[in-house]
Amino acid sequence: MEKSFQKTLDQLNKSAKLLKLDDEIIKKLSTPQNILTKELVISGDKKFEAFRVQHNNTRGPFKGGIRYHPDADLDEIETLALLMAIKCAVVDIPMGGGKGGVKVNPKELSIEELEELSRAWIKAFKDNIGPNVDVPAPDVYTNSQIMDWMADEYGKLTDKYEPAIITGKSIDKGGSEGRDIATAQGAFYILEELIEKLNLKPKETTVVIQGFGNAGFNMANLVYEAGFKLIGFSDSKGSIFDLKNGGMNPEKVMESKKEQGQIHSCYCLGTVCDCENYESLSNEKLLEIETDILIPAALENQITEENADKIKAKIIIEIANGAVTPKATEILHKKNILVIPDVLANAGGVTVSYFEWLQNINDEKWPLEKVLTQLKDIMVKAFNNTWLIGENYNTDLRTAAFILALGRIVDAMENK
Ligand code: NAD
Repeated sequence: MEKSFQKTLDQLNKSAKLLKLDDEIIKKLSTPQNILTKELVISGDKKFEAFRVQHNNTRGPFKGGIRYHPDADLDEIETLALLMAIKCAVVDIPMGGGKGGVKVNPKELSIEELEELSRAWIKAFKDNIGPNVDVPAPDVYTNSQIMDWMADEYGKLTDKYEPAIITGKSIDKGGSEGRDIATAQGAFYILEELIEKLNLKPKETTVVIQGFGNAGFNMANLVYEAGFKLIGFSDSKGSIFDLKNGGMNPEKVMESKKEQGQIHSCYCLGTVCDCENYESLSNEKLLEIETDILIPAALENQITEENADKIKAKIIIEIANGAVTPKATEILHKKNILVIPDVLANAGGVTVSYFEWLQNINDEKWPLEKVLTQLKDIMVKAFNNTWLIGENYNTDLRTAAFILALGRIVDAMENK
């Protein structure tokens, strides 16, 4: 299978050529500045491969999450570090791109081992990170507790607690209001702009969401509250599709998910369940439903060359990183299916991470209203700029977002 870093470089090259960048600059933009690997040892003899890739810091400190996953590898981390550099430039925050990880199944570790591993990561990379050098954050299977341990460990090693070393911390330890909902909220601000542009009415617009975790569930709530008709949901174990297209309340779906351990094919309001007008679909079929909007918010590589032709949604909001491959984006673009790419759609998360860093550096605490007002301003600007470039270059929005980002990174290179 083609490596995902190569696929992302193909996308970068396509946009760079449209921008008429010369080969020397394209090479610089394509090459990670630092690829760091270490071995972490915990509990005396348990060894794990750990990574930090620092792709580009032309626009500011490297920024990007640390994921704990059994399949984490350098190809994936390099891809995500490059995407972070693009994402930060799309939303025009003064940060570069980085990503880290550990090849581990955290579910197999005790809480003490998880803490030891997280502290070991900081010990291993402490000379490579810093509030003005490289600022990590949570990612898949890492959370605010892990960020708190990491910030604490960095403080011990440097004799000074500096919250700006890491973002995604708990509020008590210097985290920002709004970080937990930031990704979904950012995507929702884009959706609001989009429906106005396309003259769509929420009440007449159907939505399907793949993934019911932090991003998917929060997005479902925002979309539901705005009056959209949510007709399909899935998680890793099950799904529910509303055969009448009447719309479901995500809180109710979450209540029965908690009871049953997974999303299932009955829609329950309290103890009364309707199992006739709802059904469970395979993950593949859920993506192929006829709907106005499809929101992949779970995994990468969900819409590829293999199934792009079967997609019937009119709009795709790609919250999950890499859910739609660049080749699938081209196929969908030809079919007039609009894809709001990950580097734009999910950039609300890193934007509020940047707000957290800024608050820590300036010793400030912003109320939620301020976080959301500034987030909205940034997301709306990024969306409109990307849209305009898409029109000017007559291209899909992924290519447009890369053009916007690469232009900004190159400007910063020239002004350094
Ligand atoms: P999460 O772990 O909270 O939720 C993931 C959800 O996906 C879970 O409900 C899980 O059951 C579901 N899932 C897993 N496999 C599935 C499958 N085969 N079919 C359907 N559902 C499946 O993760 P999250 O934080 O919500 O992140 C989701 C995606 O959004 C990831 O790609 C992540 O990189 C991206 N993202 C998240 C953030 C953030 O701030 N949370 C920021 C940027 C990007």
